[in-house]
Amino acid sequence: MGRRSNGAVVFASETCALDLIEATYEREVYPGEVLVVDKDGVQSLCLMPHREPKSCIFEHIYFALPNSVVFGRSVYESRRAFGEILATESPVDCDVVIAVPDSGVVAALGYAAKAGVPFQQGLIRSHYVGRTFIEPSQKIRDFGVKLKLSPVKAVLEGKRVVVVDDSIVRGTTSSKIVRLIKESGAKEVHMRIASPPIIASCYYGVDTPSPEELISNRMNVEEIREFIGADSLAFLEIDSLKKLLGSDSPNYCYACFSGKYPVEPTGKVKRVGDFVDDGLNGSIGSIDGGWVQGKRIQEGNRDSKQKQKQEEEERVPI
Ligand code: SF4
Repeated sequence: MGRRSNGAVVFASETCALDLIEATYEREVYPGEVLVVDKDGVQSLCLMPHREPKSCIFEHIYFALPNSVVFGRSVYESRRAFGEILATESPVDCDVVIAVPDSGVVAALGYAAKAGVPFQQGLIRSHYVGRTFIEPSQKIRDFGVKLKLSPVKAVLEGKRVVVVDDSIVRGTTSSKIVRLIKESGAKEVHMRIASPPIIASCYYGVDTPSPEELISNRMNVEEIREFIGADSLAFLEIDSLKKLLGSDSPNYCYACFSGKYPVEPTGKVKRVGDFVDDGLNGSIGSIDGGWVQGKRIQEGNRDSKQKQKQEEEERVPI
């Protein structure tokens, strides 16, 4: 909740929206709370007894923009600290630190600063490519990784690279990223993940895949390292994350890292295939060469395809 200089009370899910309209952030809306704003001011009603708050830690890891303050903490400062912890607890000799843009950038800056190694833009995300999950075939979705993330050879060639990402979900995206970096001539690729391993699905509204699809639910860190093809892999330790949050730590939900749900999910099941990926997932084999293979029209159905095309061209638009 925020307030503009003319007294108007405004609400937004992230404080960065308040900055845009020059409103001052006042406070969070509490769980189960209803705020009624009328000519008499702001009235707080609670429709149910206050449960202890369990805020989603993923807001700090991935969802929120870094210029927001979420649950009373700066998202930028959280992510930078995640990177610093990784550099302290999981150091490795390297020449350059890069990020998987955009959500890995601030943690990578923290890692680089702590490690005393330059941060460079080794992967460029194209903001001009639309979401590829609407594309009809998996192969076209897989091609999305090359459209969305372009490696910078000048940064990577011959280097020992630390690449920082916010999380690993199914592992397929990380495989592709490691491979892109290696294909650009990197000598070594060390992956650092600014969150603990995700072992359980979210039943509170976050679109995570079924537990069977979560790579950390099936493999240990060494097996994942091997799967993604990195020279080393380290995650943020959950205890280190909690230590950073200090006295706020009990107020967060960590169910996707622990499988311990603050409110037991009932009647909800996540099935394999429910999850819609964003084009960065899919099988690693299908990015070979980066080309989407066109299906040859078989001689037998060439005529019918041509006929169909002709009919489509002749169709009068309504
Ligand atoms: S399960 Fe994970 S994603 Fe869902 S609310 Fe808890 S911390 Fe957030």
